Amino acid sequence: MTQITLIPGDGIGPEITEAVKAIFSAANVPVTWEEENAGQTTFDAKGELLPATLLASLEKNKVALKGPITTPVGKGFKSINVQLRQMYDLYANVRPAKTTPGITSRFENVNLVLFRENTEGLYSGLEIFDERLQIADSISRVTKIGCEKIVRAAFEYADRHGCKKVTVAHKANILKHAGAMLLSVSKEIAKDYPNIQMEDKIIDNMCMQLVMKPEQFDVIVTTNLFGDILSDLCAGLVGGLGVVSGANIGDNMAIFEAVHGSAPDIAGKGLANPTALLRSAIMMLHHIDLKDYAYKIETALDATLAHKEECTGDLGGSASTKEFTQNIIAKL
Ligand code: NAD
Repeated sequence: MTQITLIPGDGIGPEITEAVKAIFSAANVPVTWEEENAGQTTFDAKGELLPATLLASLEKNKVALKGPITTPVGKGFKSINVQLRQMYDLYANVRPAKTTPGITSRFENVNLVLFRENTEGLYSGLEIFDERLQIADSISRVTKIGCEKIVRAAFEYADRHGCKKVTVAHKANILKHAGAMLLSVSKEIAKDYPNIQMEDKIIDNMCMQLVMKPEQFDVIVTTNLFGDILSDLCAGLVGGLGVVSGANIGDNMAIFEAVHGSAPDIAGKGLANPTALLRSAIMMLHHIDLKDYAYKIETALDATLAHKEECTGDLGGSASTKEFTQNIIAKL
């Protein structure tokens, strides 16, 4: 049995984590869950946003599945997600986007994986606000070692999965240092992978290409802010945030998460779609080498997604979270 830290999160988080637990249990996946929450809930209960018990659990288990956590906008505490990524050097944010039969989208044949650098750039936390002059500085710190780690992770993934091309998205024409470093490091690392084509695109062109011909992309690698935006854009190509998976991976720990938010508008109503978290849990099963269970659950999920009427409202169906979960379980 592998023990996994389970962070249910806020809003719809507990509903979708219950769904994943039920499906794992029905599929006899050999994992046990150690449940620890974070954010406003634990702050209200025990005065800790990131409880010591959660950190101890993460450090022990090294693998976690996380529901969405509410972050106050423009005030209040620093994002729990960003804190965890930086504390444990989870430098690779991995976001697959693949067309699924039955899920409505404007495109067909999209099958790409985006690697977003997850700890540096404009999200380094280097912010200065001069109240008197009313000037705000957000410093984008990019390091050579940080670029090397994310680019290597992208090429390694491409190599393992037989992908033909890695596209580096950057703004090196304007950001002569912070933007150029990713590109120069990529050119060096690409030499170690002669069977994989490397191409680079300036981020604005990249956005246009993605919404016109997304099927041309295979693996994409980019810096933190661009990756944050591009990864949601890519989700939009295949049905939206409710259906895509995401992982934060470092050398010693990995946190798999629902990439959508806590959806306070539908929380507690039994309407939440658990697909995004379930797909992240499937990624987690590959990571811990329980691939047969991953394929089994993925097959049951895809077979359910192919029938709209068996799915939740956001996918055009009328099933509740629990009914959708049962429909997946019935196909295991
Ligand atoms: P959101 O993703 O929570 O909601 C956007 C819309 O999508 C809403 O209409 C919601 O009902 C719908 N939606 C989202 N997930 C759904 C699901 N699984 N099934 C059905 N419908 C779904 O985005 P938001 O409203 O901008 O953010 C709400 C809160 O979540 C904020 O506090 C934000 O900071 C937080 N957030 C957390 C994460 C995270 O923890 N990874 C990510 C994004 C936003």
